[in-house]
Amino acid sequence: MIRIIMIAIPAAGHVNPSVPLVRELVRRGINVTFYVTEEFRAVVEQAGATFRAYPDGTISSKVIADANAHGGSARVVQRLLEAAQTLLPLLESELRQDPPDAVMFDSNALWGRMLATSLRRPGISLMTTILVNASVFRRLTVRERLAVVWESATSLPGTLGARRRLLRSVGRDLLPSSPMFPTRGDLTIFPIPAWIQSPDDRCDASSHFVGPSIDTAPRTEEIDAQLERLLEDEAPLVVVSLGTLHRGGEDFFRSCIEAFAALPANVLLAVGRAMGPADFESAPSNIVVRAVVPQLAVLRQAAVFVTHGGMNSVMEGLHFGVPMVVIPQQVEQFLIGQAVADRGAGLVLRHHLSGRKIATKELRTVVKTLLDDSSYTASARTLAATLSEGGGAMEAADQIERLLGRAIQTCHEIFG
Ligand code: UDP
Repeated sequence: MIRIIMIAIPAAGHVNPSVPLVRELVRRGINVTFYVTEEFRAVVEQAGATFRAYPDGTISSKVIADANAHGGSARVVQRLLEAAQTLLPLLESELRQDPPDAVMFDSNALWGRMLATSLRRPGISLMTTILVNASVFRRLTVRERLAVVWESATSLPGTLGARRRLLRSVGRDLLPSSPMFPTRGDLTIFPIPAWIQSPDDRCDASSHFVGPSIDTAPRTEEIDAQLERLLEDEAPLVVVSLGTLHRGGEDFFRSCIEAFAALPANVLLAVGRAMGPADFESAPSNIVVRAVVPQLAVLRQAAVFVTHGGMNSVMEGLHFGVPMVVIPQQVEQFLIGQAVADRGAGLVLRHHLSGRKIATKELRTVVKTLLDDSSYTASARTLAATLSEGGGAMEAADQIERLLGRAIQTCHEIFG
């Protein structure tokens, strides 16, 4: 039986897009062992894979969210480099005696790529977002560029230190060439449509844009009576979420309450686990506040989605044909939002890229525009119809089987 191990990043935005592919591989009789943290055990087991936990104290969704909130992308990279230094030797000693046929890894799980090289096995990267190159700077205002440079500069010494320590402990041979992130493989699967990726030299013959496969199996969150009433109500529903790693903060959600109080719509605010409904006790009756929401279930009923532009959120919104107000917290989310806006399915408010507050009037106006102008919904529905054109999880599994077939063939040729 073919055996693949999946080396994941413990964050919903990274685990969720891998689930349909893992389920498809298991359906084809491939044995998948999935390494992530205990938080995701249920999701992994539901997909039919064998769950293996990263040890406590190595990496977790909290470590990633904290790094993102206090230091941005460069600080996240530092944590990933530190995790690579601890996890690689652990995984090597666990798998050296009985290596799998291939190592699949999240494009941010550098230690997965290093493990594939170390075990001399094919590496399959699951690219959970787009590739961003330096040309993005041309699309930013001076203020936005300064914000990006300043944030990176303050986190950079820590990141460089972590890189030095990793190099000292494992040597250069196992590390992919620069840039290390996001990490590509012998095969790189992009579970996104090709149109959302700007031209990039790194997209070569080993890159396959299969498009998203939205996993509509119910997630662990329940729909309670209050949410059910909201979903059944005749008034249009506006869903607001900045994802699971955001730093938009209390300020932004307070502005939403002020902006949407008089909106002829119900509004569901997913404020994130760092806050909760108790922080927003005075919300008017058309606004429901939750820490997290069952996002797929609520998007199915939504008229407008106010999102940070995380890749999964955008794919999920489009899947249900929901137009979006994208409020990017990071440059990559700006590019994703812009690609959606360029195709008429949404609008982008770029204030947070340079740390500016969005005026409540502006927030209300853009949401009202999307509620009133049906062309945005029509464009979102047009895009929805194209999402499956890449073949999704089925095509990704075909590509993986082809890669494994080639690898086995090469072994026969070398060893007879
Ligand atoms: N999500 C959810 N409920 C929430 C917020 C997020 O189920 O209240 C899920 C969402 O459906 C998506 C993922 O978490 O699959 C977030 O991924 P995304 O790439 O959009 O953003 P990130 O959190 O990685 O910034």
